[in-house]
Amino acid sequence: MPESGARKVILPARYVQGQGVLGQLGAHVRQHGSKPFVVSGRTGWTRVKARVQASLLQAGVPLAGHDDSVTECTHAKINEVAARVEDAEADIIIGCGGGKAVDTAKAVSEKLHLPVITVPTQCATNADQMADAVVFSEDHRFIEDIYLSQAPVLVLVDTEVVARAPPVFIVQGMGDALACGFEKPAYAETMRARKSQEQATNAALEVNLKCFQTLMAHGVQAKKDVEAGKITDAVESVVEAIKLQSGFGFGGGGCAAAHAVHNGLTIVPGIARKHGEIVAFGTMVQMVLERRPMGEVERVMRWCRELGLPIRLSELGKLDMSYLPKAAEKACDPNDSMSAMPFTVTPDMVLVAMREVDSLAQRLG
Ligand SMILES: [Zn+2]
Repeated sequence: MPESGARKVILPARYVQGQGVLGQLGAHVRQHGSKPFVVSGRTGWTRVKARVQASLLQAGVPLAGHDDSVTECTHAKINEVAARVEDAEADIIIGCGGGKAVDTAKAVSEKLHLPVITVPTQCATNADQMADAVVFSEDHRFIEDIYLSQAPVLVLVDTEVVARAPPVFIVQGMGDALACGFEKPAYAETMRARKSQEQATNAALEVNLKCFQTLMAHGVQAKKDVEAGKITDAVESVVEAIKLQSGFGFGGGGCAAAHAVHNGLTIVPGIARKHGEIVAFGTMVQMVLERRPMGEVERVMRWCRELGLPIRLSELGKLDMSYLPKAAEKACDPNDSMSAMPFTVTPDMVLVAMREVDSLAQRLG
């Protein structure tokens, strides 16, 4: 047994990104099976249906079946879709859509021991390449994270598709990806100090750093380009940062304070922002907890403001502020990722840091 545990990363076998790459789907499917089954949500499926079917037909691997009814990744939905896949005698799953659809597709593939290809239709998530599936209840309460024996055999990111989704998605994706530049280094430091069995790879840390640099350099331009309907190098770079780099960085674990603060804030009545937007706020809370230089915090804060990511508590929604201490308490739940911070974080520290982010933002020129 090595003294400092095992370094591990689980990656997709293939990642392909570019304009029009959806046309290659059929050829990729043929390498793994002959009877593909699509799992998606209704909106996602409507957007890619014609292109998916055409590509599969052209490659001689027509669709064996599809289920476009995913609205939430629940155990019931996973079982229901798995039964349909078995009825269709499909031998490969294609998950099309956002996080819920691809998570359901991945969970079904794990259950049936079939390969899975993911085809994202937007950019708010990096779920497409991760070897896990987050399961919720019907009323969107977190149930469990299922860890998969393998990552997707292919992540096919057609920028014609993801960059034509509403611009708010790429902003949310950037908010979520922002955290990897801070959480993974904190996580890595903690695991090293604990001589834990799970160690971060230097590769993941490097990729995370690259992800953060890309977001800072091209994020604002990418948002403008997506709003203008243009697919530029900035857009391609940011899509890669969200879809490939942040997932590579997080793979094998790596959340810390930013996601814990997100999880805490989700219990506050009135919260009106989505996952990536709340994580961006949580990232600034983590930076304050780490006592990072003010210049560094302000740089990230300005970047968030330019993108429209929340930097004030009031921008998170009409929050019932009396719940803030409870949110801070939940953020420090010993089973949550706050425990991956390299120093002890108390609910009081979280509460102070949230208010400090808010007042820093207020003073930001
Ligand atoms: Zn996240």
